[in-house]
Amino acid sequence: MTGGPNVTVAGAGALGLCAALALADAGCRVEVCDPDPRASASAVAAGMLAPVFESILDAETAPAFDVLIAARDLWPGLEARAGVRLDRSGAMAVGDEDWLAQVDAALIRLGLHGIDLPRRTAEALAPGLSPQAGHAILVREDWRLEPRQAMSALRAAAEAAGVAFRQHAVREVGSADWLVIATGAAQGNGGLAPELAALTPIKGQIVRYAQVGRDGVSVRGEGVYAAPASDGLAVGATMELGASDTEPDRKVLEPLIARAVALFPELDGAPFAVAAGVRAATPDALPLAGLSAAPKVVLAAGARRNGWLLAPLVAQVVAACVTGGDAGPYRRRFDPARFGERKR
Ligand SMILES: Cc1cc2nc3c(=O)[nH]c(=O)nc-3n(C[C@H](O)[C@H](O)[C@H](O)COP(=O)(O)OP(=O)(O)OC[C@H]3O[C@@H](n4cnc5c(N)ncnc54)[C@H](O)[C@@H]3O)c2cc1C
Repeated sequence: MTGGPNVTVAGAGALGLCAALALADAGCRVEVCDPDPRASASAVAAGMLAPVFESILDAETAPAFDVLIAARDLWPGLEARAGVRLDRSGAMAVGDEDWLAQVDAALIRLGLHGIDLPRRTAEALAPGLSPQAGHAILVREDWRLEPRQAMSALRAAAEAAGVAFRQHAVREVGSADWLVIATGAAQGNGGLAPELAALTPIKGQIVRYAQVGRDGVSVRGEGVYAAPASDGLAVGATMELGASDTEPDRKVLEPLIARAVALFPELDGAPFAVAAGVRAATPDALPLAGLSAAPKVVLAAGARRNGWLLAPLVAQVVAACVTGGDAGPYRRRFDPARFGERKR
């Protein structure tokens, strides 16, 4: 035990776990409370750490490329510190010529050069890829982790650093010196910090094919991705703005599955499982990380579709707020006060 401040972290998803570990490493006494981390968005995510393709393929994320690269560069530290396993084999764009030309142009705008691969090489990197696929563009800058392995590793490292885990919801700051709100898109926490009113839920459904695709690079197609993992191929994901339920809805998934089958014909008719999670999004697609207007409260929320990628950077800002350290160059862009009274 150290003599640092007592900090309660509400939420044991990616942001809460990374914040808890950073706080413990900064000398704080930390307790993490979460009634059910298995219901978190973090547990169902694909785990792509994809600054490049997220910036290229998601218009709202595009202005955040520098932030996403900075966040990705913190992951090797967590690999060494907590044993989070990183896959650095890269990600590959596969699609028609027009779309690949757009990807290529976008890469050049970011100052990057993808590696142009002939179909045979692309197939060797993504076994099962359709013979209809032409060439592909490989990007080495995008990495991947496995969310469940990462959550276990982060929790184990936090426990070893003295963090206590409790299985209940937080409703108030209580006797803690600080409360860190890492409650994702969960509803009903508005009383803890007024800035949470700026968040909009975005439901995401993801499909897992347990019997295929355990190896290879992530594949990015037009309107679909396929990320290999030890428990099968993850195909995602829907972006259902305003929806906050986690009910599987196969009708909504049909177009996604059709696009996945076009990339990997062996998926046609293969058994799959559906999972859904809810992302929390701010109006500018950057997280809320920093001091709340509520006393003794720090926010770590709103990471939209890149919560895994952004988690260590958010954690750095959180730890700096609590310990009075330097919150770094992204403090202003993450400032929870930046939306003012607009949505409150
Ligand atoms: C289908 C899908 C695919 C995705 N793929 C990727 C990807 O490839 N790469 C990537 O970077 N991101 C991805 N994301 C986004 C990413 O999952 C989220 O941005 C991230 O998980 C958010 O983490 P979080 O810790 O903020 O919230 P969550 O992971 O949702 O965790 C919040 C936790 O807070 C708990 N909680 C709620 N209220 C309270 C309370 N009052 N007290 C205590 N605990 C509370 C909840 O039980 C929950 O466990 C994906 C998301 C989805 C849905």
